[in-house]
Amino acid sequence: MKMNNLSFKGGTHIKDYKDLSAEKATERMEDPKIVHIPLDQHIGSVCEPLVQVNDVVKIGQKIGSSSASLSSDVHSSVSGVVTAIEEMYTTDGSLSKCITIETDGLNEVDESIKPIENFKSLSFEEKCDLIKGAGIIGMGGAGFPLHSKLQSAVGANIDSVILNGAECEPYLNSDYRVMLEKTVNIVEGLQIIKEMLNAEAGYIAIEDNKPKAIDAFNEIADNYNNVTVASLVTKFPQGDSTRIVNAVTGRRIPSGGRTSNVQCTVTNVGTVNALYELVSEGKPVYERIVSVTGQGVKEPKNLMVKVGTSVKDVIEYCGGFNDNANKVLSGGPMTGNTIFDLDAPITKSTTGIVVLTEDLEDTRLESPCIKCSRCIDVCPQFLMPNIINAAVNKEKYDLADEHGANDCIECGSCSYICPAKRKLTESIALARKEIKLRKK
Ligand code: SF4
Ligand code: SF4
Repeated sequence: MKMNNLSFKGGTHIKDYKDLSAEKATERMEDPKIVHIPLDQHIGSVCEPLVQVNDVVKIGQKIGSSSASLSSDVHSSVSGVVTAIEEMYTTDGSLSKCITIETDGLNEVDESIKPIENFKSLSFEEKCDLIKGAGIIGMGGAGFPLHSKLQSAVGANIDSVILNGAECEPYLNSDYRVMLEKTVNIVEGLQIIKEMLNAEAGYIAIEDNKPKAIDAFNEIADNYNNVTVASLVTKFPQGDSTRIVNAVTGRRIPSGGRTSNVQCTVTNVGTVNALYELVSEGKPVYERIVSVTGQGVKEPKNLMVKVGTSVKDVIEYCGGFNDNANKVLSGGPMTGNTIFDLDAPITKSTTGIVVLTEDLEDTRLESPCIKCSRCIDVCPQFLMPNIINAAVNKEKYDLADEHGANDCIECGSCSYICPAKRKLTESIALARKEIKLRKK
C-alpha cells in the first residue's frame, strides 16, 4: 500500500546538503588500533563493566551490563585486550566511563553470536530480555532502549507501528543508506515488532526527498501483510515522533503525552534493522552507519564504524579537514551538538559527524524582535517562541511555563527562521531547565 504527500502543520524548509554523501554506498571503515566504548550509550542506568584491565575480548562479547530495567547492554566492537577503564569526554561534552580496548587484528567473533532460531516461540518478556542483552537502542539519535519502548507499548493497544525513515536533519544520510542497503531486513524487523505488540498496521514513513528509498520499499511492501509506505512532505522536523504520528495517522498526541496515548509506536529504521540482525544472526549492536559529511571534510562518506572509534580516526579516514573547517558536530546542525574533543568515541546513537565551514556560519548578531511572527508560524508545537523568549529575558519563568515552554521539542526551527537572529531555542531550553528545577 502507498500513502503520499503526508505532512503536519508548522515546520520549515531547510537547505539540506544531503547530496554531499547521499549516493555514496556505505563503506566499511578499517578497525582502528584502539576503541573507547562508553558504558552509558543509552537513556537509563549506566552499565557496570563485566571485564577488567588485561582481559582478552572478542567482537560482540558483552562487556557492560546493568540489572536496571531502563538500561541496555554494551559489547566489544573489536577483538583485543582491555587496557583501561576510565572516564573520558564523549561527543555531547559529558564525561563517561569508557572501556578502552587495543585491537589485536585477529577479528575473533564471540561464540555467543548465532541466530536465535526459536525467537517466535519465546514469551514477550524473553524477547525483551534478548533485545536488552543485545544493546539495541534508538539509533536515530535518541538512545532510548528498544525493549523499554516495547514494554511501555505492550499494554496500550497499539494498532500502528510506524518506522521512522524521515531523516529530516540536514546533511545526514545514515538512515537513507540503511533503507537502501537493508530494505528487506527493515520490513522483516517491522513484522517482528508488529507481532510482539499484536499491532495490525505497519508503516514505513519516509520524506519525499528520498524517492529511491520509497521505491525500494514499494517494490516489496505488497509481499507483506498490512505494510504501507508513507511518503512525507520534506519539512523539518518531520522526523520528530509527534509529527510523524500526526502525518501518518492524523492523530494528535496530547500535551505531555506519548505516541502510545494514540495507539502508535515509532521506531527508527536503523533500530529495526538491528532487531532483525539480532534475530537472524544473533548480532548485538557494536557497529553502525555514520554519515561523515559537511563542506569541511575532504571526502564525505557513509561509513560502517565500530562503536568506540574516535571522531578523529573517522575524519582522518575521510581525508581529514578542509582548510576552512571550523566546527565539528555530532548529529545534524539543527539538533546536534558541537564536539570539542576529537578523541570522543562514536556511540550506538551517533548518526553523523558533520564538519561545517566558516563561510556557512551566520555571524549576524541578535537584534530586537520585529514582531513578524514567523517563529509562531513554523513552531510545530504551536507555541509562541517570541513571547516565551521575552518572558525568559525578564526571568519570568512562571510566565514561560504558562505559555507552554515545556512542550518545546528544541527543534531549532524558530531560531532558524528568525530574521532578528534571536536565540529563541536556547532561551526556551533554559526556561525548561529552570521550570524543572522549580518543580522539584
Ligand atoms: S519553540 Fe521549540 S518546538 Fe517551537 S519551533 Fe522553537 S524549538 Fe521548535
Ligand atoms: S521570528 Fe524573530 S523577529 Fe519574528 S516575531 Fe519571532 S522572535 Fe520576533
